[in-house]
Amino acid sequence: MATNKTFTMIKPDAVDAGNIGAITKMIEEAGFIIKAMKLTKLSSERAGEFYEVHKERPFYNDLCAYMSSGAIVPMILEKENAVEDFRTLIGATNPQDAAEGTIRNLFAKSIEANAIHGSDSDENASIEGSFFFAGTEMF
Ligand code: ADP
Ligand code: MG
Repeated sequence: MATNKTFTMIKPDAVDAGNIGAITKMIEEAGFIIKAMKLTKLSSERAGEFYEVHKERPFYNDLCAYMSSGAIVPMILEKENAVEDFRTLIGATNPQDAAEGTIRNLFAKSIEANAIHGSDSDENASIEGSFFFAGTEMF
């Protein structure tokens, strides 16, 4: 059954480009409520753990280096049909394929530095949210 939460993080390219405000504005205007949020940084080990499911893929080492190269903004978001609606809001993995007006279309630099993460299932939203916010109070 669909829950009403998803997990996202603004990636280092978008934080470095000064787009935290523009992206969170889009998220809120699309009807998502921010339930948890922080500015933090991953070690390469923690990035490796987060992207464990991709460890056999050729881009895994580069991805871990990139994701630990700068600050990120992880968030837990709430909205009806959150996981699916948020994937629609961010657009395709490769910004060249991302629909017009999506976050990746507007802000991503490349298929790797693609501005933002969005969980792909309710189960992963819960696992990924706990990875950053276990024990954090939600409002
Ligand atoms: P998504 O983030 O859209 O769910 P994936 O789960 O397939 O995409 O991949 C996780 C992340 O790995 C992507 O967001 C992107 O940063 C990176 N990535 C995916 N495919 C590639 C690729 N072919 N080359 C480099 N990096 C990639
Ligand atoms: Mg994914």
